[in-house]
Amino acid sequence: MSLILVVEDEPTIRSNLQRLLGIEGFTTEGAENGAEALKCIAARKPDLVLSDVMMPVMDGHALLGAMRSDPSMSQIPVILLTAMADRSAMRQGMNIGADDYLTKPFQRDELLAALRSRLERAAAQRAENDRLSAEARRLRVVDPVTDLPNREALLERLPHALAAMSRQQGRLALIVVGLEGFSRINDSLGHAAGDRLLRAIADRLQAEIDRSICSSPFDGVARLGGVLFAVTLAEVGGNDHVDDLARRLLAHIAEPVSIEGQELFIDASAGISLYPHDGVSSDVLLEHAETALGEAKRGGGSGFAYFAPEMNAAAGDRLRLHNDLHRAIERGELEVYYQPQLNVISGRIIGFEALIRWQHPELGQISPVRFIPIAEESGQIVAIGAWILEAACVQAKAWIDQGFSPLRMAVNLSARQFSDDDLCALVSGVLSRTGLPAASLELEITEGTAMQGAERAIAIMHRLKSLGVKLALDDFGTGYSSLTYLKRFPLDVLKVDQSFVRNITTDPGDAAITRAVVLLARSFSMSVITEGVETAEHLRFIADLGCEEYQGYFFSKPVPASEAAVLLGRQMSIA
Ligand code: C2E
Ligand code: MG
Ligand code: MG
Repeated sequence: MSLILVVEDEPTIRSNLQRLLGIEGFTTEGAENGAEALKCIAARKPDLVLSDVMMPVMDGHALLGAMRSDPSMSQIPVILLTAMADRSAMRQGMNIGADDYLTKPFQRDELLAALRSRLERAAAQRAENDRLSAEARRLRVVDPVTDLPNREALLERLPHALAAMSRQQGRLALIVVGLEGFSRINDSLGHAAGDRLLRAIADRLQAEIDRSICSSPFDGVARLGGVLFAVTLAEVGGNDHVDDLARRLLAHIAEPVSIEGQELFIDASAGISLYPHDGVSSDVLLEHAETALGEAKRGGGSGFAYFAPEMNAAAGDRLRLHNDLHRAIERGELEVYYQPQLNVISGRIIGFEALIRWQHPELGQISPVRFIPIAEESGQIVAIGAWILEAACVQAKAWIDQGFSPLRMAVNLSARQFSDDDLCALVSGVLSRTGLPAASLELEITEGTAMQGAERAIAIMHRLKSLGVKLALDDFGTGYSSLTYLKRFPLDVLKVDQSFVRNITTDPGDAAITRAVVLLARSFSMSVITEGVETAEHLRFIADLGCEEYQGYFFSKPVPASEAAVLLGRQMSIA
């Protein structure tokens, strides 16, 4: 039943109106001026205010103005009543926000029609407001792309699951799944295709959970945002159960998704934290599962890892190195070392590989094997790599000018540098600044980098080749190269990975692989350089296999420029 507040200074008119409305089924309240009306509105929250304009103390317009500026009553419809048919007063009332205007004397029907229409409209408005706020509430907890609960919803829901596990002494696994290479798909096929892919992945995760035999009401999938999803599995028994689910989730994601007529493949890794073992609060469990995911990714993708406390320590170290790396260039802590590369038969130095060294002020020398991946992950490698390239080219040009010629300078490119759009511009800029002949520069790309997006790699390689530089495939034999691609890569050199050389004299398999690589390279008109030659025996062995070039501790470790110059000078004086 609607409550109508009748504001009227004339007592008889007020009581007549209240009586009339009472007969029509409304509940009413009366007030004799605006000020009293405001008190009543605050206390009773009427559905509609029917107010006279001309009143002592506070008139109808002032009352209306006060209501419209107070959010707690601004939505209440107001119908003004006036004796005078004064157009300007009417307009003034409408301008302040009156919903309707009735001039006295008015007919009963006229009044009731105005009231009903205002009340209906207000009810419709309230329903719409409720719908909108329900939708806003839903959007706050639902990811609009996949319709899965979002991170906030997970953090709201998870404590209930944990409380239940605590009561029944159960365990819960939180699995965070991260997609890899998603941005590539998003960039090449557009966001709509990216969204469809995310929906497909969401459906697969949900399907895996639904299929689970011993399901608990606390099992579920959420999208944490970006390329991260979370799966909760309550009442887990042993780790086998979790392992099994993680494996199934990843396998299911790895199946091709067909979008816009294309078969898309996407990789994923997963990190797992367990309640109560790895944490008892939602925040900590989530953080630990994400840490484990980082570790799984570093382990080389498509796998999963359980959280372990050491991971935090390792992450702490990485964070420190990442922070310190920022200033390493400015502070002159980075230095390029050079490892000679030699001709197997003549024994002469034909070039050098530039290898970065970091002399950390407190931690001492840090291996590139440790800090290059960090720089790669953070993107710092692009700046550091540019610096190395320039330093190595300046050095090579200086040696050539001193008469050590021909001389080749090999520089390593990381995956990120290799796919950086500005790489060609960087290389040609460095060549023209330093004056180093392009043919003296050799860029090394690892097999893994080249095979990751091979078609694109071929295009980049051709662009680099058009500058006149040489290209080498580093660590060959450690990844999975497709021969078809190998044939299409415009490479000059294959570098046999040192792991083969290590056992070349004892392991017939490694010897056979090295021999095969030499033959392969020859048939593709590439040359072969063997890394990691440490002994005279190694050298003899690779010479027998027909390998023409080598580098390794047998002749020299990577050394600072000054020592490399001494090695070159010695060779000059022998010649
Ligand atoms: P890589 O490009 O395969 O370099 C060869 C590595 O083998 C070097 O390790 C070198 O010191 C080492 N080595 C050379 N001869 C021998 C030997 O006879 N026996 C043994 N056991 N090892 C030998 P380093 O300098 O520690 O570099 C490791 C890796 O770090 C490099 O592998 C390369 O992938 C990366 N790296 C080094 N410098 C750079 C750089 O300037 N840029 C980029 N992107 N990566 C770099
Ligand atoms: Mg290399
Ligand atoms: Mg190598």
